[in-house]
Amino acid sequence: KKYLEECLERKRLYNEVIELKGNIRVFCRCRPLNQDEIANGSTSIVDFDSSQENELQIICSDSSKKQFKFDHVFRPESDQEAVFAQTSPIVTSVLDGYNVCIFAYGQTGTGKTFTMEGTPEHRGVNYRTLEELFRISKQRSNIMNYELFVSMLEVYNEKIRDLLVENSNQPAKKLEIKQAAEGTQEVPGLVEARVYGTNEVWELLKSGSRIRSVGSTNANELSSRSHCLLRVTVKGENLVNGEKTRSHLWLVDLAGSERVGRIEVEGERLKESQFINKSLSALGDVISALASKTAHIPYRHISLPLSLHPPFSMNSKLTHMLQSSLGGDCKTLMFVQISPSAADLGETLCSLNFASRVRGIECGPVRKQA
Ligand code: ADP
Repeated sequence: KKYLEECLERKRLYNEVIELKGNIRVFCRCRPLNQDEIANGSTSIVDFDSSQENELQIICSDSSKKQFKFDHVFRPESDQEAVFAQTSPIVTSVLDGYNVCIFAYGQTGTGKTFTMEGTPEHRGVNYRTLEELFRISKQRSNIMNYELFVSMLEVYNEKIRDLLVENSNQPAKKLEIKQAAEGTQEVPGLVEARVYGTNEVWELLKSGSRIRSVGSTNANELSSRSHCLLRVTVKGENLVNGEKTRSHLWLVDLAGSERVGRIEVEGERLKESQFINKSLSALGDVISALASKTAHIPYRHISLPLSLHPPFSMNSKLTHMLQSSLGGDCKTLMFVQISPSAADLGETLCSLNFASRVRGIECGPVRKQA
């Protein structure tokens, strides 16, 4: 009974929130200045309004300020606990049968991997999510039986690679997306590991990250140009009425959003950048269409006047794969990650504009203070 009441309460809160904000949230996170930036005497170009938890201002090169508003803004001093405290209600709704997608978007070096993966001392959203899912499933074990499965994959140049193959020397399996009978998207052959506890999960995530970097001369470089997706599948059975649910939670560390052309690129690198730009724009198109409740959602065939970039047509593996976890009553959260450094001003404004537009939030200049 307590569980049902809890579910109803969550639904009520959720519906109230939906009226206000829709089921898309954008959180902004600003990393601290790093050692090099401090050594160079850099100061932060990000101003936080001490009274508002959801606003920030960017100090432009001509000293004018641009203001941005999100659902939440995490400052450089916000730790992983604070970030997860805001994220936890969204991720744990997967236990109630909702599909959920969380993305980390931003320029390379702004903390996407730090937020999602974290470090052994400062574990990120991925690990904390599984820890929380195990904790709640245990708490509900007299009424619900949950089974948790984890898959990990990478999308690089529109190719899907399984990161949980047991042995990284195995030849890469070619994975494709298939439309299942019930209209959902499946990736046949993708490893789904049943998980029972947090220690095992940490090892699994570590081994996935290791496999991700195998075969590349520069692991950091490669990871910044591919999307890394962790999928948690939750199978639930209500022990009272026998009702079964199956839902997905996607935790996505996106490829770096920096624009091509910033540095002269050619050949393989140019192709990579074009794939990245296309898949990120496709994602932006899908989310902004969802936020504005456009009837047609461009999951596969992207050609929207509303496009943030010049309109174009394409198939994107990223949005196609996530199709059944975006839209409807699915929940979406995007972390827009930014750097506080003046050297990154251009990219920071691009990321903040992108995030504001996908969320349908107005942003504007702030009048200079006298
Ligand atoms: P990205 O994945 O966007 O390329 P990383 O997550 O690799 O960026 O972050 C770049 C560096 O900055 C890493 O050394 C990371 O540990 C550090 N970093 C990022 N965000 C934070 C933060 N909020 N607090 C402390 N260090 C951070």
